[in-house]
Amino acid sequence: NADTAMYRAKTGGRNNFQFFEAEMTAEAKRRMALEHSLRRALERNEFEVHYQPRVDLKSLRVVGMEALLRWNHPQMGWIPPSEFIPIAEDKGMINAIGQWVMAQACRQTQALMDRLGRALSVSVNLSAHQLRDPALVGSVRAALSESGLPPSALELELTETALIEDVDHSVNVLRTLKQAGLMLSVDDFGTGYSGLSYLKRFPVDILKLDRSFVYQRTEGVSSFEFIKALVDMAHALKLSVVAEGIETPDILTLLTDASCDHGQGYLFARPMPLARLEQFLEEENVPASESGGA
Ligand code: C2E
Ligand code: MG
Ligand code: MG
Ligand code: MG
Repeated sequence: NADTAMYRAKTGGRNNFQFFEAEMTAEAKRRMALEHSLRRALERNEFEVHYQPRVDLKSLRVVGMEALLRWNHPQMGWIPPSEFIPIAEDKGMINAIGQWVMAQACRQTQALMDRLGRALSVSVNLSAHQLRDPALVGSVRAALSESGLPPSALELELTETALIEDVDHSVNVLRTLKQAGLMLSVDDFGTGYSGLSYLKRFPVDILKLDRSFVYQRTEGVSSFEFIKALVDMAHALKLSVVAEGIETPDILTLLTDASCDHGQGYLFARPMPLARLEQFLEEENVPASESGGA
């Protein structure tokens, strides 16, 4: 607890200073170890793309999935992306890793569509660094042509922060990607500070409402009215809305009533390996009357 730590730091004198120093060193050591092994992770095949289903809130059918990167460190086990993505960004490794994720997601999604005989779309997260990579557009095209995935089945997720870092450059890259037929979304929408005017400048198709936004407590207006107003605005701008982090039936009802288009969250499914996703989709494909229930 931060208050307690502050109190101890103020009152504890020298011993506490040493305590904090030891903590810092352990943290720094972990980071250094991760940094070191991250350099070899790609060639050692330690990455795996997991997929979280995205559901149409009217029909409750899966329409696609989000690719979420996982790193299985040989000694340290599963490392969350919140920990290794920033290191990959700092150390100039994110472009190579991102290209691998893109190629993998396109190939696996096309293969899944072939095996299951149904249309799906896949979204891939891009970091701000990738948006600045001159090789980005070329590697996206390569991933599409090598996999045979139609461009309209690939969506790129960008955060507002990444987009506004260099607006003119972002607009150019996004226009090129739109011309190639891709879908573009704003990830973690509602957590930035830039207001809404930037939406006029970027050719995006989808807003992904951040989980914290979906769950927030509002003063005065109810959360329902707040979310409804936002969804209406998005629809007026010809954007569709995906809610992130749906965990409870109550929130699902609220979002459905607010005409939110799609959703993701633990209520439907957690991110999972490809093989499990395939099973999940196969089970969904069985009509209720043949599922052996009742
Ligand atoms: P994000 O793109 O906003 O992804 C949503 C995160 O919320 C994922 O965490 C997902 O597992 C989690 N989530 C999904 N449903 C729920 C729910 O109902 N409740 C809660 N509490 N969480 C839920 P994850 O997989 O740990 O990824 C974290 C972030 O790491 C992502 O946030 C994204 O910004 C980044 N990331 C993941 N994969 C990649 C990648 O391939 N490239 C880049 N550049 N970033 C990635
Ligand atoms: Mg995302
Ligand atoms: Mg998000
Ligand atoms: Mg998020």
